[in-house]
Amino acid sequence: MPVADYKTYCKMIDRARAAHFALPAVNVTSFTTANAALRGLAESKSDGIIQVSTGGGAFASGSALKDMALGAISIAEHVHRAAERYPIYVALHTDHCLKDKLDKFVLPLVEETEKRRATGQPNLFTAHMFDGSNLSLLENLEISAKLLERFAKDDLVLEIETGAVGGEEDDVVGEKSAKLYTTPEDTLEVARKLNPIGGRYLLAATFGNVHGVYKPGHVKLKPAVLKECQEAVVKKYGEKARFYLVFHGGSGSTLSEIHEALDYGVVKMNVDTDMQYAFTRAVAGHMFKNYDGVLKVDGEVGVKKVYDPRSYLALAEVAMAERVKQAASDLRSTGKTMFPS
Ligand SMILES: [Zn+2]
Repeated sequence: MPVADYKTYCKMIDRARAAHFALPAVNVTSFTTANAALRGLAESKSDGIIQVSTGGGAFASGSALKDMALGAISIAEHVHRAAERYPIYVALHTDHCLKDKLDKFVLPLVEETEKRRATGQPNLFTAHMFDGSNLSLLENLEISAKLLERFAKDDLVLEIETGAVGGEEDDVVGEKSAKLYTTPEDTLEVARKLNPIGGRYLLAATFGNVHGVYKPGHVKLKPAVLKECQEAVVKKYGEKARFYLVFHGGSGSTLSEIHEALDYGVVKMNVDTDMQYAFTRAVAGHMFKNYDGVLKVDGEVGVKKVYDPRSYLALAEVAMAERVKQAASDLRSTGKTMFPS
């Protein structure tokens, strides 16, 4: 199917929240990883999200250019073309963008969408995240409100963050502990400032999330924080104000923690670290198994068919697709595509 437009994406998140499942949001940095995401989602009959981070965009543009917006556009254009051939809906997101990177990443991408809309073409991305979690809540919401006003006119969805995700992802280094748990007061302020604007937004409300992956016991997730935030906002502003939540930093979480979060209104879960490992595990297996074929040892010539990058990248693509299928199953999105079968 074509990449989800605004109306389709809104329907995707409405259905997910109502039926207590979430869309896997897979970070990609190349054609190969984007294809893995599409394949895994299609084989799961799950709709989902493909997303590009600032670092992923810079990587995709090539090491000589390191232009985050350019790389994101290239990946998005590939996904627009390829997605037409898969029987599922996929939305295109950008991931964490701090205030000091808006000018280099989100805003040029929004301009690109506005240019396309002016000539009757579809939006480039479906949604963009602004991460103001390192700012005061006041400044975070001032910037978020301005973006949402513009996004509402462009049929773009905004993702914001309150509290702060710990750990490290890309070049975004998170909090140590202070803001790891958002509060009902913070999220009430979000609703007060953003809901009157109109448009649609997703909220990454943190509940102890940490980017990266750690041994059991390191991360103390408290999904009940999400329940408290939802109850507070519905009590004050009514059912219409119930949040659409995003789960960041979920690698290594238990299935029961994930399911509890889904029950409280998480509609999007970012999966990055687990995908990176699945991809690299397949490459490592190939290299160890074919040690004397990928290297020219003792004056030998190696084996062309095992050092051709396609040989191990194809294995990595399939391995990552399998991990995407696992994510869809964990998030209860398997078989839930809106695409008529
Ligand atoms: Zn994140």
